[in-house]
Amino acid sequence: MSRIDSLLRIAAPFVRPIYGGAGVILMFHRVLPRETHTRIRGHANLEITPEALEQTIHYFARRNYDVYSPDDLYRFLTGVKKEDKPFVQFTFDDGYVDNLIYAYPIFKKHNIPFTINVSTCFPDHTAVIWWYLLEDLILNRERLTFEHAGQTYDFDCTAQEGKAKAFAITRKLFKFANIQERGLLTNSVLLANDMDLLRKIDEVALRWDQLKQLASDPLVTLSAHTVNHYVLSSLRDEEVQYEILESKRILESNLDKQIDHFAYPFGNRREAEAREFRIATECGFKTAMTTRTGGIFSAHGSHLMTLPRYDLAQLTLPRDLNLVTSGASSLRVNRFKRVITA
Ligand SMILES: [Zn+2]
Repeated sequence: MSRIDSLLRIAAPFVRPIYGGAGVILMFHRVLPRETHTRIRGHANLEITPEALEQTIHYFARRNYDVYSPDDLYRFLTGVKKEDKPFVQFTFDDGYVDNLIYAYPIFKKHNIPFTINVSTCFPDHTAVIWWYLLEDLILNRERLTFEHAGQTYDFDCTAQEGKAKAFAITRKLFKFANIQERGLLTNSVLLANDMDLLRKIDEVALRWDQLKQLASDPLVTLSAHTVNHYVLSSLRDEEVQYEILESKRILESNLDKQIDHFAYPFGNRREAEAREFRIATECGFKTAMTTRTGGIFSAHGSHLMTLPRYDLAQLTLPRDLNLVTSGASSLRVNRFKRVITA
């Protein structure tokens, strides 16, 4: 633990009245029992254990928080719902099958709502889940060599250190690639090394029948999260429009249900900006979530397309939840700015 973390822990109770806000939205991805196989350092952070999820729920229950759905939050922020109690909203991004297997029974047991933000390439089984394919590739190779954008990349992957470096650099290339560049990288990194592009999707993604099962439960909100999970700021206007609106349309036609909420893929600064916020508004969503760090304040009623969330994967649960609910962890990231609106 760094010195600044220790200081923030001590400061949390004093910071809370100013930075705590009305409530928090929490972001998760996968919920899985701890795996025993080797991982690349820093890449297990999409996962929390069912025990950590349950402890997180207990933390908020003990402190008398209301658990909100996105519709509850919309009603609160537009002044329809009056509330004195603080609230928490649980969200899971992308559409992983473990959300049904491990998370759903926990929420059901506690009878509290949660949200899954679905990229439609997951249930459509067209997603190349490059972040896991890349991890598998690097774990199984002693060397990774490829060309991209006129540059040669050559990584010695014999030791853990080298694997972590190869992963971090190649991950960044994939993440910020536009549609054409993503295709080129898929060829030069994954296909050139005989990776089966759709192998991972069968293993990790929710199917449409499973999503229908979830959608039939009033505790579950399914929200849009684009079609192909690109960093939207890397795309052209019409591509952004397609990615957002088409994901809403595909979810609505498959689930026979109106989809009112949206989450930007990645969604941090430089990944979703003013153009993306405008297009999400034009697509008719009630709320849209970013991955900017921060609490929710009543002022977000005027910024419904830029709701901040806390990514809990970077934290130790449940130990660090005081840093989240007090706003102490956002204070550092946002340099003392209180209400994060863009
Ligand atoms: Zn995502």
